[in-house]
Amino acid sequence: MEIFYRSLADIKWEKSTKARVASGANPKTEWKHLIDNKICGSEGVSVGYGKIPIGEYLPLHTHTPQEIYFVTKGTGILTMDGDKTQNLGSGDTVYIPGKKRHGITNTGNVDFEYLFIFMINNWSDVKYDFQ
Ligand SMILES: [Zn+2]
Repeated sequence: MEIFYRSLADIKWEKSTKARVASGANPKTEWKHLIDNKICGSEGVSVGYGKIPIGEYLPLHTHTPQEIYFVTKGTGILTMDGDKTQNLGSGDTVYIPGKKRHGITNTGNVDFEYLFIFMINNWSDVKYDFQ
């Protein structure tokens, strides 16, 4: 397998489908797929780059696979299982065990941007359960 490289600037932002919005996703959040089996043949890891615009939020949700966040820009509040909260800012890392409820609200005056990493071949296989 070859080493894969692509610039963030060359990847298109994507938004939720109508079906995904109907299931509870916020239509204003966006993401870029960076690493995925379908993109570059990677196995056991899938990486995306998310954006929560000013004043918006990633709704509370769960999924079976564990997830890691790395915040690259902005400030926000992470809401966790049991309604605990944690302030987030650039450089912060979050580990979310499988099936733990979580969501992020952008509390800053710039877009909130973050990497999200799953130990799974393809992000499309992650089933989001919004609450
Ligand atoms: Zn998640």
